[in-house]
Amino acid sequence: MRRFNESHPDGPLLLAGSEVDIRADGTLDYPDEVLRLLDVVIASVHSAMDQPREKMTARLVAAARHPAVTAIGHLTGRLIGRRDPVEVDVEAVLRACAEAGTWAEINAHPARLDLREEHARLAHELGVPLVINTDAHSADHFGLATFGVGIARRAWLGPEAVINTLPTEQFLRRLREKAR
Ligand SMILES: [Zn+2]
Repeated sequence: MRRFNESHPDGPLLLAGSEVDIRADGTLDYPDEVLRLLDVVIASVHSAMDQPREKMTARLVAAARHPAVTAIGHLTGRLIGRRDPVEVDVEAVLRACAEAGTWAEINAHPARLDLREEHARLAHELGVPLVINTDAHSADHFGLATFGVGIARRAWLGPEAVINTLPTEQFLRRLREKAR
């Protein structure tokens, strides 16, 4: 991938990223030395989703504060019509994101739409940068971004609130700032 970038200076630019599990105890499922090799780390809950509210909140707050984490993915874990959101203090997690400079994902997959619009609005008001991701599992899923844009609009947010609307150089600068 890095070799591709070197041999294609005019783009497209490839970034190394991973969606990483937040384990039940709030730690991540890759060691720090692996996370440090990545340009983008999205941390999300995919297991032990029935934890009590306090434990789930502490778990997500710990991930939001982890220095290698770029963004928290699909924060409430809902699957529309199939699975309720987890029990979590969304505001506490978003405050931890604001303090740590961590971004919050608007997952644009129509089964998720997570953050939903009220939470996207709250994130923005707390100073958390939002990032619209498609949760793409194949190239033809990239078009799902339009549903994430719809959530941002319902939250009365414009492109300035969404970090991946930035031109490449500015986006990369924000990414480096996050990585510290
Ligand atoms: Zn996920």
